[in-house]
Amino acid sequence: MNHDRSRDLYDRALSVMPGGVNSAVRAAVEPYPFFVERGDGGHVVDADGNRYVDWVMGLGPLLYGHDLPQPVESAVQSRVSEGPMFGAPTEVEVEHAEFVARHVPSVEMLRCVNSGTEATVSACRLARAATGRDKVVVMQGGYHGAQETTLVEGEFDHVEPSSPGIPASFAEHTLAVPFNDEAAAHAVFEDHGDDIAAVLVEPVLANVGIVHPVDGYHETLRDLCDDHGSLLVFDEVITGFRVGGLGCAQSEFGVEPDLTTFGKLIGGGFPVGAIGGPARLMEGFTPAGDVFQAGTFSGHPVTMAAGLESLRYAAEHDVHDHIHDLGGTLREGLADIVADQAPEYTVAGTDGMFKVLFSRDAPDSFDGHCEGGCHQRSSCPRFDHCPKTGGDVKAGQTDRWRRVFWEKTKERGVFLSQNQFEAQFVTYAHTAEDVEETLEAYKEAL
Ligand SMILES: *Cc1c(COP(=O)(O)O)cnc(C)c1O
Repeated sequence: MNHDRSRDLYDRALSVMPGGVNSAVRAAVEPYPFFVERGDGGHVVDADGNRYVDWVMGLGPLLYGHDLPQPVESAVQSRVSEGPMFGAPTEVEVEHAEFVARHVPSVEMLRCVNSGTEATVSACRLARAATGRDKVVVMQGGYHGAQETTLVEGEFDHVEPSSPGIPASFAEHTLAVPFNDEAAAHAVFEDHGDDIAAVLVEPVLANVGIVHPVDGYHETLRDLCDDHGSLLVFDEVITGFRVGGLGCAQSEFGVEPDLTTFGKLIGGGFPVGAIGGPARLMEGFTPAGDVFQAGTFSGHPVTMAAGLESLRYAAEHDVHDHIHDLGGTLREGLADIVADQAPEYTVAGTDGMFKVLFSRDAPDSFDGHCEGGCHQRSSCPRFDHCPKTGGDVKAGQTDRWRRVFWEKTKERGVFLSQNQFEAQFVTYAHTAEDVEETLEAYKEAL
């Protein structure tokens, strides 16, 4: 494969953009990333004309791959021709909020913003205002965007900012516990229950590999929050409209959060975030209440049209079924390859997400293991070996992924996420052929 043009572009980018990119993970591959020229269904074509099966899919927002369904494309184009935005409300915002409230169990009202980060910032502010408390519990390895409250490292109340530039005093209000650890959740509430405004959790950890909750974990968080007057906030920026279809992960797991944050799929491929919940909480936001929240681009008509039409299209077609079936086939194929060639690795994912985690321990037998991706079933022979927390995933062979494995699959024409931690996505545009080709690439590269 020739990458001359990508190399030249990266060379130029390094002079005018820090690290040559606008978001760090894009440069995670070495020596330089390929630059994308265009998408085509389940594929991307790079600046040198190389074609790849694309499982990165914008890191989450593209339910249809790179070809928008015709009604989505028309809606976007007509919004653009009517003038991109106004600073006054538009009908499409109302329709978008109505659609989300109709499909997502815990959502009665929605406030749209422009990124997942902005959504979690506003959700933390609202939860703190609603409870009159400051502390927010997060999961170690969970990701809630580039925001001060959640960019922490450490454990329990021994946390520090994970980035320079964040005052240490900010992290004093954040508590971090390992995902899937009920005892740790109980302990943190025992020590700090009266000060905890919210627990902020991804229903499925999806930014540190993919880690499914163990049975009863979210119920435990729900009960602890209820017992202590804290809010349970599901960060569904990745899982929303993907896991559990249009009802989101909360309908799949049957646990109702107090607040939900959205992003990615809710904007149909355009910049977006949103906070949803019952009126009694949501009306805390200005102008209904006094919790300040505002944004020049919030509820942008082009984004709202793209989001609404792509969710509508999914409601009216077999989009999620196609994605679930193809995802299942892919994960089962990967499980066979892993059992054969790398039994210590864990195939993770559900619905339209997948990842092979480079974990280090194998069970003696694979009989009766979780089919179609690790679901943390306690009867699975891999149960004691599969990652349960962000820390478990980080303890895997992360360098092997980045330095050896990624490059080999790329050379075979398969674009996987740029490090061991980002999830990979199956879309409506992917085909059985794409799955075949990808399984062949894993077979060679693992
Ligand atoms: C992507 C993501 C975010 C951040 O969203 P941005 O749009 O990148 O700001 C927050 N939470 C989760 C769970 C995410 O996956």
